Amino acid sequence: MVASVLAFDFDGTLHDPAGTPSVPTEFFETLLRMRRERGLVWGINTGRSLAQMVELFDESRFPMLPDWVVAREREIYFCGSGRRWQPLDAWNHSCEKQIHGLFKHARALLKAMRQRVEEATGAQWIAVEGEPAGILARTDEEMEWIVGELQLIASAEPLLSWQRNSIYLRFGHRDFQKGSSLSEVARQYALDADACFAIGDSHNDLAMLDKRHARMVACPGNALADVKHHVAAIGGYQARAVHGNGVIEALQHFFPAN
Ligand SMILES: [Mg+2]
Repeated sequence: MVASVLAFDFDGTLHDPAGTPSVPTEFFETLLRMRRERGLVWGINTGRSLAQMVELFDESRFPMLPDWVVAREREIYFCGSGRRWQPLDAWNHSCEKQIHGLFKHARALLKAMRQRVEEATGAQWIAVEGEPAGILARTDEEMEWIVGELQLIASAEPLLSWQRNSIYLRFGHRDFQKGSSLSEVARQYALDADACFAIGDSHNDLAMLDKRHARMVACPGNALADVKHHVAAIGGYQARAVHGNGVIEALQHFFPAN
């Protein structure tokens, strides 16, 4: 029986590109122990695409694959037999449809955003198949400024949102982000926020570091100051250790060994 759903952000949380190995071996040992002691499923909740993650599982020498992946902060996939990734079609299609409709509806507003960004900054506006996909800024400070401007323009369209991760920003729908995706994953196991654990280091993790989606929230010691403040404010756990070791510390906090 599945008792808990564990969600890990990848870059900067579980994975440290400067680490050897980039994901600590002890992380997998901890998961295996927890799996023996209590039923759990675990997954990666990331802004990356599924194709990127599949490569990174190899590169980072994952000895086992996660049970699920949330890619691009909103697409859900489950690891099926033969290590095949099965999309959760109902959710993924509904998400794409609603985002497409929203972008169409908010066309004038998005145009105003693009003009503002292009006239005032050196950031790059990225469009895919004619739809606004995101923004790539040159620095964190530039993105900070852009987000402030977007907030002013976006107040007219409450469904329009974005996920920010340092100098990257992806436009999306308020109802499809790391938090709502985690709740949908849990729902597939007939569980709710009470059973969920989430850990992340950056702005795009705030949506899942939320008691509506995960009762157990944490951040590693290297998390952004904004994320640390948020986790402290809602009574979550701030690990002292950084990256993957911070993840292990947080797991030991919420799931002490029997
Ligand atoms: Mg991260």
